[in-house]
Parts: sequence; structure tokens; C-alpha cells
Amino acid sequence: MHISNRITGLLGGDGDGWEVFNRARGMIAEGVAVTELTIGEHDIRTAAPILQDMHRAAMSGHTGYASVPGTAQLRRVIAERVMERTGVPTTLDNVLITPGGQSALFAAHVAVCDPGDTALYLDPYYATYPGTLRGASAVAKRIQTRAEDAFQPRAQDIAAAAKGATCLLINSPNNPTGVVYSRATMDGIAEVCKANDLWLISDEVYDTQVWEGEHISPRALPDMAERTLVVGSMSKSHAMTGSRCGWVVGPEAVIEHLINLATHTTYGVPGFIQDAAVFALAQGAPFEEEIAAPFRRRRTLAQEVLAKQNAVALVPAQGAMYLMLDVRSTGMSGEAFANALLDAHHIAVMPGESFGTAAAGHIRVAMTIEDAAFRDALETLCAFAESLAA
Ligand code: PMP
Repeated sequence: MHISNRITGLLGGDGDGWEVFNRARGMIAEGVAVTELTIGEHDIRTAAPILQDMHRAAMSGHTGYASVPGTAQLRRVIAERVMERTGVPTTLDNVLITPGGQSALFAAHVAVCDPGDTALYLDPYYATYPGTLRGASAVAKRIQTRAEDAFQPRAQDIAAAAKGATCLLINSPNNPTGVVYSRATMDGIAEVCKANDLWLISDEVYDTQVWEGEHISPRALPDMAERTLVVGSMSKSHAMTGSRCGWVVGPEAVIEHLINLATHTTYGVPGFIQDAAVFALAQGAPFEEEIAAPFRRRRTLAQEVLAKQNAVALVPAQGAMYLMLDVRSTGMSGEAFANALLDAHHIAVMPGESFGTAAAGHIRVAMTIEDAAFRDALETLCAFAESLAA
């Protein structure tokens, strides 16, 4: 029996980038103590008060089919939050609640791409991007950013790829690079989108994790609200990765159609999860800062460790829970380095090559283990790189 080209072609013939990760998991299954700096998930769990509210909501009966677009209460809270953070007029009619940011990314591309349309994305990229675009029946076309620009995309590189394309996907603060797009970068992106009539899909799931500079939502730039779909999520900001609660914010006309898509795909997000999200968001900025604090702390700690050596260079770590480290002084690819580090020291990191080709010769380190162990692992990693570079 034929299995659809759309699904068999989802990965586009590339590996999925998780080979080192899977090898580390295999070692762990065999009883090896591996220090995992791979996956983008907090080392804390969802806070107890949020879980208590989720329990309360479920016990009070919010366990049936929830409103498909999301509850009016949560949509309103998201709209108010977006308005507060960006100044762009936003109502609940601009918001669709989705099962996580991942589902929002898919929905956003389905909303703007017809089958065969070209959807642009930037390399290095979050590992699921090309598959998500192909899953939405788009032709995924990547645009290189450059290590020498600290992976800030150049407007002219995007413009060169934009002819005939339908949309551009960006992500700031960025996974995997930890870079926050500057105002000049965002202005350039907005100009290219307007000049080429592109939709902009802005993945802002790390918007509460900014260590340096400011988070700019391109929906707030002149004449961009009508062509921008923002993807958001409770996962990173509130340590609620497993709750699967995210959203798309965009023009009312798009959201109207996305509600139809949700009706025919997910049928919404559980009501007790949405209630817990309302509760979590009501904790305000201090709580979000508390969730971000370990990464902020470890980023400072990493800067201290890295300042003491020359073999590993840190790409400006401006936001998100990752460090992008340049290991080209070792003469190895990111993948070879990651494999060697795993073998020699049982430390697992992601090769830059897992995220495309622009970050070749780099590795991504997730700042997701406890401080002392994180410092030890980084010191070992640097000493290992120094021994290889020598
Ligand atoms: N975008 C980026 C850049 C991510 O790193 C992630 C998760 N790692 C997501 C979207 C999706 O997150 P979620 O579905 O948990 O909201």
C-alpha cells in the first residue's frame, strides 16, 4: 500500500539530526552515566501551584470538550499579554490556542501556504522546521545565516531567496544559536517581507528568556501586523512543556480559518490545561523571571569558564536556554567533536550540523543541568577542545 509522499518525504532525506542524542540515550540505557546537554527542557518540573490549579480545574468539571479556539478567558489573557508587551491592538479574535508551539507552527504554515508554495526558513534552524513546512505541503527553502555575523540574518540574503516565496519563518530568541535579533535585523526582515509580499511567521517561544538586548516582536513593526503570525507557547516561559499549550496570534481573518483547521485536526486543548495556563500567566513577570533565572545564571557561569581558554568561542549568548560554541579550532566538525566528547567524557551535546549547515563546526549546549555539574561539564569540554586544538 502507498504511504503518502507528504509523510514519507517529511524529513526530506536528511537525517533527523538526533544521531548523537540517540547514541547518548543508548549509552544511558546500558548504565553509562552521561551528562546530557542536549534537549531544550528545564531541569525543574511544572510548579506545584500550577498543577494544583490544573487539578482544581479538572475536579470542578473542566474535563469535557473545551472550546475549540481556546477558552475565551485564556484567549483574552494572551491578547492582553501581547498588547502589553508589544503595544499592538489585539483581541481574543486574534488568538487561537493550540496544543503547543509546534502545532501552532504547523497551523500557521497551513494557513498561508498552498501545496507547493515556497516557505522560507533560516539556517541554523530548530530541528523540526523543515519537516513542519513539508508537513504543511510547502516546499521548504532554507537561507543561510553566517557565523561571522553571529547568525543575525542579512536582509539581502533573504531578499535573494524571496522571489515567488509565500512566507518566511524566523525565531528570536533563537534556538539553536541563542542569538536575539537586533532591531536592525528585524527592520530588514520586515522590509523584505513587505517588498516581496511575504507572510512572516515569528516563533517567539523564548520571548521571556532574553539576557542581552531586547525582544522585538516583528508584529509591532510598521504595517507588519497584517502579514505576521506569531507563535507562542507556555512551554519555555512557564516550564509547562508537557502541558502542550501554545498559540497563534494573527489577523482575525486568518484565525477564523485556523479555527476551522483546529476543528478538523486537534479539536482544541484540554480545558483544565487552559485554566492552568490562565493561572500560570496571572503569576506575572516575577514568576517568568524565576523560571528563566537558572539559564541566566548558567550563561554568566559559562562566560566565566569560556573566558579562561581559547579553544572554544562563544557565539553571543543573548537569549534562550542554549549556548552555541564554535569548536573549529579543533579542526573537527561539530558532529565529530560531539561524538568524540561523548566517547571520551560521556558528555552529550548537539552538533551544529543537526541544525543545518550554517552552524557546521559548532556545537549547541543546553544549559539544562544543575549549576555545579554544568560548570564541571563545560570545563571538561573546554579542556578537551584545548587538547585537540594543541
Ligand atoms: N520553537 C522552538 C524554537 C523550539 O525550540 C520549540 C521547542 N523546543 C518549539 C517551537 C515548540 O515548543 P512547544 O511545542 O513545546 O511549544
